[in-house]
Parts: sequence; C-alpha cells; structure tokens
Amino acid sequence: MIDRTKEFLFELFKNIPRQGPGSEKSTLQALARIKLPTRPHILDVGCGTGNQTLLLAKNLHATITAVDIHQPFLDILFHLAYHLKPPGRIRTINQSMDAMKFPANHFDLIWSEGAIYIMGFENGLNVWKRFLKPGGYMAVSEISWFKKSLPAQVKEFWKSEYPLMKSVQENLKIIEQLNFLLIDHFPLPDSDWWDEFYEPLQERIEVYKKKYKHDLEIISVLYQTAREIDIHKYHSDYYGYEFYIMQNP
Ligand code: SAH
Repeated sequence: MIDRTKEFLFELFKNIPRQGPGSEKSTLQALARIKLPTRPHILDVGCGTGNQTLLLAKNLHATITAVDIHQPFLDILFHLAYHLKPPGRIRTINQSMDAMKFPANHFDLIWSEGAIYIMGFENGLNVWKRFLKPGGYMAVSEISWFKKSLPAQVKEFWKSEYPLMKSVQENLKIIEQLNFLLIDHFPLPDSDWWDEFYEPLQERIEVYKKKYKHDLEIISVLYQTAREIDIHKYHSDYYGYEFYIMQNP
C-alpha cells in the first residue's frame, strides 16, 4: 500500500471507539475464562487506541504493556490512562508485532483483539508464544469463516483483503498443532461490529467523502472501506470475529 493511503487509513480509524469489532461485554467474557495470579503481567498486541487495554486495566491489578506501530494511537491510550487512572498500570511501546523485543517466558497473558490478522493467525500465535510463561494464557480475536460455501462476492472480497483467513475449525486445529490447550472460543455478536466500529466509521466515511471529493486516491480507500461494511451488512452469517482463548501448557 502506498504511504499516503496508509496514513489516511490511520486518520480514518483514529477517533472511533475501537479500530476493530469488539465490546466491553466480549472482552470481559473472554477475560472471565482466564485464571491469573494477583499482579499479572499482560501484553496487549496491536492495542490501537486501547479500548480493551483500558478495560483490562480497570478490571485487574495488572501491569499491561500495550504495543502498536502507530504512535498517535499509543498517545491517545497514554492520555486516557493518565486521566482515568485505572487500578492496572499501562505502558505503551511502539514496536512491530512481528519483531517484539521481550524476554522469553515473560507474560501471564497475551491479549490481542482484531490485530493478529496482520501477521496471520498461525504465524502470530507461533511467534508470540515464546513470550508466554508456562501456564500463561493467550486471548485473541480473529476474523474467521463460519460457513463452508460462500457467496462469490464475499469470497472474492476477503480472499483479496485477507487471503490467510481460515474457518473456526481450521483455527482450532492450528491452536492444537501449536500445542496450546484450548480453553474456550465464542463468536462476537453482530452488535460488536456495529456499535463501536462500523457505525461510527460510516459517519466518518461520509464526512471524508465530502472533504476529499476531488482526491481519487482517498475516495477509492473510502469506497473500499464502505464496501467492506456493505458486505458485512448482507453476509454476516458467513464470517465474523471469533474470540479464541488458550493456555500454554
Ligand atoms: N486492538 C484494537 C485495534 C485493532 S486494529 C481494537 O480492537 O480496537 C489493528 C491495530 O494493529 C492498529 O492499531 C494498527 O495500528 C496496529 N498494527 C498494524 N500493524 C502493526 C504491526 N506491524 N505491529 C503492531 N501493531 C500493528
């Protein structure tokens, strides 16, 4: 992707509650399946502006390391944490998720909502596993196929956006092959796509369409994002986000 459109995407996704599907209810549902020591060390990968990081910090006396490559997102999270003063401590680090520099066996929990697709589910789990303590947990949400036979336009759109996208069953197999113990998995409800993500995003798309009406490059990014939303509106039975919770044995 050219830098200018990439920069614009960051701008587009900045002032919305989340940069991917999710909700307080789903974050806490996943967290409820995990048994942590009293002062756990948590890593949140691809934290964005940190909606889920703040929820974890509100609910746990934890030290949370929040990693992202987009500094303005990390600045927003830092600012929110400073003002909200949750019981948990948050530190933000600008690093790429495929080259994180942490000691091995370091974290009690690795969390990642709507971000592991950037490395691919299998690769992400495989690379991040070394940072988990024995007995540590991993909780990640990942876009997954829910059905086998797919309408052509859904298949084409996601094969081009995310060729590595797998079915829930295939992802469960990957978890098993990587020697994780599966604790639980559940699909995010459809409202998790809309309330804090697609609806506010749609409003911003309309604003930017006017602002950039003479800028073909930006307009095409806006139309591609609007198309993603439209595909979801009509085909949400076929794919969605699944939360996978697993443990390092
Ligand atoms: N977890 C947040 C954000 C998900 S969007 C939420 O659920 O709302 C994906 C995030 O991954 C974005 O914030 C993006 O800046 C970040 N990202 C993209 N490439 C990355 C990389 N190579 N390393 C770390 N973070 C990355």
